[in-house]
Amino acid sequence: MEEIGRKEAVIMLTENRILRLIDAAKEARKRAYAPYSRFPVGAALETGCRRIFSGCNIENAAYGVSMCAERVALFKAVSEGFTDFTALALVTAGPEIASPCGSCRQVLSEFALHMPVIMANVAGEYQVKTVAQLLPAAFTGANLGGLGERT
Ligand SMILES: [Zn+2]
Repeated sequence: MEEIGRKEAVIMLTENRILRLIDAAKEARKRAYAPYSRFPVGAALETGCRRIFSGCNIENAAYGVSMCAERVALFKAVSEGFTDFTALALVTAGPEIASPCGSCRQVLSEFALHMPVIMANVAGEYQVKTVAQLLPAAFTGANLGGLGERT
């Protein structure tokens, strides 16, 4: 039943909520620390109670320890006690619409496999796909015999 509900939630995502999330991601993008790639990214993650956690990419001179905007937003939310997510927006410069990297797809799948991901550019063009569409055949807690599986 919950599975069906979550899929319906994708359909119920209104233009208002999409635009609100894109705006929040655009604001977060202004705070990106990206002196190496010069590719600032902003993300905004909506919880079940419609609270928004934002994130930006944070780079480091030791490139490998840099962190993506999506994971910053999600880790902020989880660390504040939120694990129920309904949508995520991601904003990059464009003109190409960018999608989350593989690591972010995996991390998002842990909490919200059927969540819509709004991938937007600063011009306001966007596409929406679910995490499951971005990461088919995701490795989940079910693959570990239910260990860590969320209820
Ligand atoms: Zn990423």
